[in-house]
Amino acid sequence: MKTVLRYLRPKAGIIAVEMCIKLAGTVVELLLPWMLSVILDEAVPSGDFHSVLVWGGLMVLCAALAVVGNVAANRISCATSRDVTHRLRGDLFAKVTRLSCAQEDAFTTPSLISRLTSDTYNVNQMIDRMQRLGVRAPILLLGGIALTLSLEPVLTLVLIATLPLLGAVVWFVSTRGVRLYTRTQAALDVLVRRSQESMAGIRVIQALSKGEYEKARFDEANAQVVDRERRAGLLMNVTNPVMNLLLNAGLTAVVVAGAFRVNAGHTQPGTIIAFLSYFTIILNALMMVSRMFVMYSKGAASGRRIAEVLNAPEELQSRPQPAAGGEEHIRFDHVSFSYGKVEDNLTDISFSLRRGETLGIIGPTGSGKSTILQLLLRFYDPDNGVISVDGKDLRSVEPAALHSIFGVVFQNDFLYADEIGANIDFGRGLPQERLEAAARTAQADFINTRAGGFGAELSPKGANLSGGQKQRVLLARALAADPDILLLDDSSSALDYKTDAALRRALARDFKDTTKIIVAQRISSIRSADRILVLEDGRAVGYGSHDELMRTCGSYREIAEIQMGEVE
Ligand code: ADP
Ligand code: MG
Repeated sequence: MKTVLRYLRPKAGIIAVEMCIKLAGTVVELLLPWMLSVILDEAVPSGDFHSVLVWGGLMVLCAALAVVGNVAANRISCATSRDVTHRLRGDLFAKVTRLSCAQEDAFTTPSLISRLTSDTYNVNQMIDRMQRLGVRAPILLLGGIALTLSLEPVLTLVLIATLPLLGAVVWFVSTRGVRLYTRTQAALDVLVRRSQESMAGIRVIQALSKGEYEKARFDEANAQVVDRERRAGLLMNVTNPVMNLLLNAGLTAVVVAGAFRVNAGHTQPGTIIAFLSYFTIILNALMMVSRMFVMYSKGAASGRRIAEVLNAPEELQSRPQPAAGGEEHIRFDHVSFSYGKVEDNLTDISFSLRRGETLGIIGPTGSGKSTILQLLLRFYDPDNGVISVDGKDLRSVEPAALHSIFGVVFQNDFLYADEIGANIDFGRGLPQERLEAAARTAQADFINTRAGGFGAELSPKGANLSGGQKQRVLLARALAADPDILLLDDSSSALDYKTDAALRRALARDFKDTTKIIVAQRISSIRSADRILVLEDGRAVGYGSHDELMRTCGSYREIAEIQMGEVE
């Protein structure tokens, strides 16, 4: 709530103006029944037609003022909540892009999506409603009670007798409402996650004919949301009839008691009619208050979810640290890391590379190969040990400066639905020669023979390219900006051996001064690397050149022997 208020503060002036308009409109509206009672009890009995006209005209004017004031105020409140939500959503998105990977893992992507969409919508609704009803309901309630007291103190007692009952209903509804709506938002998170998973895996789902299974999974999540929404809605819908029942019971009591009092000459019929109008106004105000509580609880639950993200600490802060010197370009010094902070995913990894050297990383899936690259890119910080680039602790380098020295191809990298050239350029505004040179090194000659060349349009995710063609476009993208450090995560796996070999030769020739880390499944892709790191379960079981490893590392020799038949 504090966070939402922070966003409301700049709008305090306009909100104050709006509330004044609303206040005036509501007060005028409150006076209407009182004027009616004046007409009925004084003007009509005295037969003064002129004063009936004057009071009647005044009533029309006041009613018009009330409507105009309400509409104007509602327009302002709509604009305010729209602007506030706009900024809130913008900041939330910016923050999401700055979250560290560990924080993103903790929030989960689907939950971040629903916070960005439905939670901000709930906050929008809350700000809007609170402005609309926040002034109106209390004024109608308190003003109504004050006016009825002055009109007919005895009948007001009837009204006051129903208030505790109504208060109890409001309290019951709003406390249960918050709980039910919080649960609904959580169910929505699940729904978003299921749809996202299905979208991402649509090809696999179709290939394995798992459409029905997926549909069932989705239906389950969908039913969950509907069920919780229904429970919350049911509760809210019970409110109105119950309130109406109480209202009408109260009205009946007032009419009966009023009839006796008129008969006894204690009061006049006009007063009773005005009183009935006020009674209705007061009960409506109570219902507004209850609706306000619902909106508030829904908005507050969502506001809390948004604030959690906005107030998440900036984890990846840089620590100034003097350069340590040394001729190493990249150095891992006894690095350990765990994603979940339970079990290490990497244990005590050390290696170092001089400028222009190549490190090969090989090992079974899940052994931590990609994790090493993620740490080097500082998507995560290591739990123990130090990673340094150019002798400087990674944590002392500005993230933007850090990312500009890397060229990266990830395991599941993506291409945009855009021209091939634009996919290689990637918004960096590189000259055409660089794109072409990068494509040549990446062995992506197929681009030239394709209709349209560099201008050829790709389908979303590059679906109109083969796996190997995709990898080569991605390679060209990584090479185009002439990076200091090149990270390739299993990015030549779809190339045939001949093209793979040509790629390695071209890399060695055109990117002599680039330090390379190459993750591969095939020994042939890395055997010429200066050093090779063999990983198993996050531990280094071998580190050295191909020849050394063939002599000393059993795991490496085993992989080599399995692949030997294909390679040599
Ligand atoms: P490789 O690239 O060698 O196949 P990874 O480095 O991707 O392996 O993964 C190493 C281990 O870390 C695996 O056990 C995997 O389950 C785990 N892991 C990878 N990414 C995450 C993540 N974002 N959150 C939690 N665990 C992860
Ligand atoms: Mg991997």
